[in-house]
Amino acid sequence: MLKVGLTGGIGSGKSLVAELFSLLGVPVLHADDTAKYLMEHDARLRQEISRVFGEEAYQNGRLNRPFLASMVFGNEEKLRQLNGLVHPATIAYSNAWAQKQQAPYVLKEAAIFFESGSDKEMDKMIGVYAPYSLRLQRAMQRDNAGEEAIKARMDKQMNEEEKMSRCDHIIRNDGTLSVIEQVLALDKLLRG
Ligand code: ADP
Repeated sequence: MLKVGLTGGIGSGKSLVAELFSLLGVPVLHADDTAKYLMEHDARLRQEISRVFGEEAYQNGRLNRPFLASMVFGNEEKLRQLNGLVHPATIAYSNAWAQKQQAPYVLKEAAIFFESGSDKEMDKMIGVYAPYSLRLQRAMQRDNAGEEAIKARMDKQMNEEEKMSRCDHIIRNDGTLSVIEQVLALDKLLRG
């Protein structure tokens, strides 16, 4: 079975594109949701997070998000440590998940791929492309957030051109081509 990664910057439309693949019957795993789920429910990951960040990382059995956010905010080392725990757990989970699927190919959607090295687990990478200004506008509208808040998140991500240059296929979501037609064509190709 082929493992395909789907990535793109904030507001590029990767969730929307993932939904289209899902509608075509392709099993889709959302890495962000998986990571959040594992931080909450994976016993080993919980233990590791508590060991590194202290017992306060969990409160009444639930992940103490505000505490963890305050620990990693503006602290590169702590953020690296947290990612070093969460990324391998997410990769292991998604590999096991992929093996269980009955389909010609599966899709893993994530904002971060090349940054964490998890693209190496994939057979092919798809990039969803939209220019900066359009991504900014879409994300502001979706999250009901201000320009500065979204820009701060965007500027932390890998440069979009570099990200796209490392993908095998690109879906243009900038209004120039039909996204549905592109997804249908790619689905046909990936089914082989
Ligand atoms: P990402 O997951 O890459 O951050 P989303 O798929 O959530 O991006 O898209 C960002 C926002 O833009 C969403 O509200 C989505 O519905 C909207 N959007 C994405 N692509 C288009 C498009 N081609 N036309 C109109 N709205 C779009």
